[in-house]
Amino acid sequence: MKVVVAVKRVLDYNVKPRVKSDGSGLDLANAKMSMNPFDEIAMEEAVRLKEAGVATEVIAVSCGTTQSQETLRTALAMGADRAILVETSAELQPLAVAKLLKAIVDREAPGLILLGKQAIDDDANQTGQMLAALAGLPQATFASKVSVEGDRLMVTREVDGGEETLSLPMPAVVTSDLRLNEPRYVSLPNIMKAKKKPMETVTPGALGVDVAPHLQTLHVEESAARKAGIKVPDVAALLGALRDQAKVL
Ligand code: AMP
Repeated sequence: MKVVVAVKRVLDYNVKPRVKSDGSGLDLANAKMSMNPFDEIAMEEAVRLKEAGVATEVIAVSCGTTQSQETLRTALAMGADRAILVETSAELQPLAVAKLLKAIVDREAPGLILLGKQAIDDDANQTGQMLAALAGLPQATFASKVSVEGDRLMVTREVDGGEETLSLPMPAVVTSDLRLNEPRYVSLPNIMKAKKKPMETVTPGALGVDVAPHLQTLHVEESAARKAGIKVPDVAALLGALRDQAKVL
């Protein structure tokens, strides 16, 4: 069974985002970029399925600029067998990414497509769902456990008040939640080996996909700085302060 994993290059989660002075977006010049954390989890799960003898090939796919090659190299160092870069400098919104991934799925015919539950830059949480709808495939989002039993995929998801386990026919689309696994650190020998693994580049045009954005970002601004708190000497003063706050609100 082939497994396709979608990995996005995003601003590293440790970096404080800087908004451009004209409010048109984030200033990413010279900022540290990394693989979206949920995609690392998705990649780890695919590699574990291969190590368990369930998956035969793991293919990492990223859509974006040439720099996304770095993200794909990380995926290869984690254990992916080959990588596909859908190269474009266009602004990619979730629907466009879902269409590109569908074209790759049509071509590769994987048994499982793993994505992160959301990208930490746009926080959209849409691509996996849109891909499943476009490809007409069953989906299980926010997976905290994945296993293959015969020709079915068993996926456990955390829902309000407990856990839900779904049984899906394959091929299926699964998006990873935080508790699915703890991704491995990539070792230096594996980084070296990854340099020799195949990486193919295709364009949206070659896949027959129009990636023109449907939404326009009007304005981006930083959230207001948090106001300093006050110290109160006793419980009576605390209750008074809370009452005053309630009046203001
Ligand atoms: P989103 O819907 O934007 O929150 O993204 C959800 C998931 O879709 C991510 O965790 C990735 O697995 C995948 N994804 C989104 N954008 C891209 C991209 N440009 N390239 C590859 N995968 C992506």
